[in-house]
Amino acid sequence: MQVPAGYAAAVEAAGGIPVILPVLAPEKAPEVLEHLQGLLLSGGVDLDPSHYGEDPLPGLGKVTPERDAFELALARRALAAGVPVLGICRGVQVLNVAAGGTLFQDLGSQLEKVLKHRQEAPRWHESHAVRLDPSSRMAAILGVTEARVNSFHHQAVRVVAPGLRAVAWAPDGVIEAVESVDGGFALGVQWHPEEMWDRYPLHLKPFSALVEAARARL
Ligand code: MN
Repeated sequence: MQVPAGYAAAVEAAGGIPVILPVLAPEKAPEVLEHLQGLLLSGGVDLDPSHYGEDPLPGLGKVTPERDAFELALARRALAAGVPVLGICRGVQVLNVAAGGTLFQDLGSQLEKVLKHRQEAPRWHESHAVRLDPSSRMAAILGVTEARVNSFHHQAVRVVAPGLRAVAWAPDGVIEAVESVDGGFALGVQWHPEEMWDRYPLHLKPFSALVEAARARL
């Protein structure tokens, strides 16, 4: 598996030291997290819907069972141990499923009047609007209650997990961000800030917040 360079570049630009993990056995997750101060769950292909109790619909894309198992174990451990976690795209979906929530397997076939969430514009392009809950940590981090974001997904959070809450929505109602309700640092965004921050400084802020939360654990 390869990790696009933008994630590490964003963490570095935010003052952190990025470490890229291979896919390991899920049993290794607790030991891995003992060596890290924060966790970034990156984008990727679809989660196997068996992890939230569903069989695959025709619109489901490629799945990677070993990666699912390791990332879900990492996310559950991070949530339980208070390791700061930022989930991006697939990462917000992993975070939500790890905590007991569900996903839309394929927005276009499961929702009516859905926006185009798989942009064909350049990766950095601000494709659609999002509205943020003004009371959320996410709004405080970004310093705005409205933004424009890129969009490269056909899945999204459906039922928000216990312990998380939705804090940003696209104009069609699709959930675009979640965060922890208990004050722990667990954030997830459905867009790709790692592809936007060098043009739009706003989008470095989630990485800066992750690095700050991670630093506080040193
Ligand atoms: Mn979107």
